[in-house]
Amino acid sequence: MSVDDEKALLAGIPTGLLIGGEWRDAAGGKRFDVLDPSTGDVLASVADASPEDGIAALDAAVAAQDEWAATAPRKRSEILRGAWQIMQDRKDDLALLMTLEMGKPLAEAAGEVVYGSEFFRWFAEEAVRITGRYGVNPEGSGRTIVSQHPVGPCYFITPWNFPLAMATRKIGPALAAGCTVVVKPAELTPLTTLLTASILEEAGLPAGVLNVVPTTSAGALTEPVLKDPRLRKLSFTGSTPVGKRLLAQAAENVLRTSMELGGNAPFLVFDDADLDAAVTGAMLAKFRNVGEACTAANRFIVHEAVADEFAERLTAEVEAVKVGRGTEEGVQVGPLINAAAVSKADDLVRDAVDRGAEVRLGGGPVDGPGTFYAPTVLDRVSAGSDILRTEIFGPVVSIVRFQDEAEAVRLANDTEYGLVSYVFTQDLARGQRMIERLQTGMMGLNVGVISNASAPFGGVKQSGVGREGGFEGIHEYLSTKYTMTPSPFA
Ligand code: NAP
Repeated sequence: MSVDDEKALLAGIPTGLLIGGEWRDAAGGKRFDVLDPSTGDVLASVADASPEDGIAALDAAVAAQDEWAATAPRKRSEILRGAWQIMQDRKDDLALLMTLEMGKPLAEAAGEVVYGSEFFRWFAEEAVRITGRYGVNPEGSGRTIVSQHPVGPCYFITPWNFPLAMATRKIGPALAAGCTVVVKPAELTPLTTLLTASILEEAGLPAGVLNVVPTTSAGALTEPVLKDPRLRKLSFTGSTPVGKRLLAQAAENVLRTSMELGGNAPFLVFDDADLDAAVTGAMLAKFRNVGEACTAANRFIVHEAVADEFAERLTAEVEAVKVGRGTEEGVQVGPLINAAAVSKADDLVRDAVDRGAEVRLGGGPVDGPGTFYAPTVLDRVSAGSDILRTEIFGPVVSIVRFQDEAEAVRLANDTEYGLVSYVFTQDLARGQRMIERLQTGMMGLNVGVISNASAPFGGVKQSGVGREGGFEGIHEYLSTKYTMTPSPFA
């Protein structure tokens, strides 16, 4: 990609707020800069929505709700499918834009376009399959008609780490179900959402059905929106502490909520594992998205008998990883999102080392422009180290060792999070025991990447509430009503 390609792309990205079908400036006229984390350069200046703009966006969503709910499912489906097609046609633009504003390598950004756009195609297919049922009550005296209805206007808050997929995973099912939407993208990565919104417009989405309000005042904009009795649903993807705060706010109006929160994924390698597969899986589960994924393997829990070999082979793979700006050929690990992310990873590494962890590779920030952290492997991490309790969100492997299956399960479940676990074993019965014993909403059995639009993504414990994707995903945006009628034979 040349600098000219980058400039040409950025020149075509809308930078206003999208409210009621109009791209406009923020009420106070404020704007903010979006930066390239690999250089610190300014990519674009984006309108900075005020709380007043947040309410204007909700006004637009409320005004569009009835007509959108009454729009034929086939029409809603075709708009989503059309947007999916435009995303395929513009996949290079979407990928480059994500790499520029978020830093992930271009090949991974291209992978996110495939994954993220698929939520539009999948839910285009689901939009026309919303069904109910008709039943005879046990007494025979009545008939129940069960029907599904759009929840109503929704408010979405998305994070910066998957700027496309975290938005489409919510927008796709909401639009398919007949809900209108206000999206507040992360301040660090609003451009991908703005381009996605313009793609949906191009696909024929009516004005007001999707509204986008980037802001530097997430809390101030969100509070009045959540207090507004016209809002029906909050869907949030982000950290557990912010999610808890939002759940408390949402309780006031008893809002429907979906919460996709933080993780602390265990990656279990048993002594009967195929180590080739385990190392390949470990590279994907740890280094995909520079380690900045809720699904990232956070704790490698490895049987003592294979731990040395696994650690040596993994370290050799990590050593070969190319670090650099995501647009450069062959780069596998880009910069972290900002300086705070580098400090956080480094603090966790230092704490682990202070408590006795052995540094097999890396162990510190990379000098120079950009916010890079050296790919790092820590072995024999001691119990009690912060790194075992905290989401690392960086390219750091931390290995602990276990003696038997019961200990592995105890270690894996020793966290308040429950998003995903990874298990490598060739013993089918053991794999099945792990499905039943590991307290996570998702599991990768002999694979290092689990995400797929057809699967119900989500966590248990403090990793969240609700599911995105799969057959389940659209039900987050539908409410069930039953109607009792007398028996027609009474
Ligand atoms: P974050 O700090 O919680 O921010 C997420 C979003 O919440 C951003 O849009 C942010 O806005 C907004 N926000 C922050 N404070 C807010 C407030 N008081 N009121 C309303 N909105 C507020 O998380 P992050 O650092 O961006 O993302 C990383 C986290 O997301 C990790 O914990 C990761 O595990 C989690 N995550 C979970 C999933 C999942 O599916 N379970 C997927 C991806 C990421 P600004 O950025 O504009 O401040």
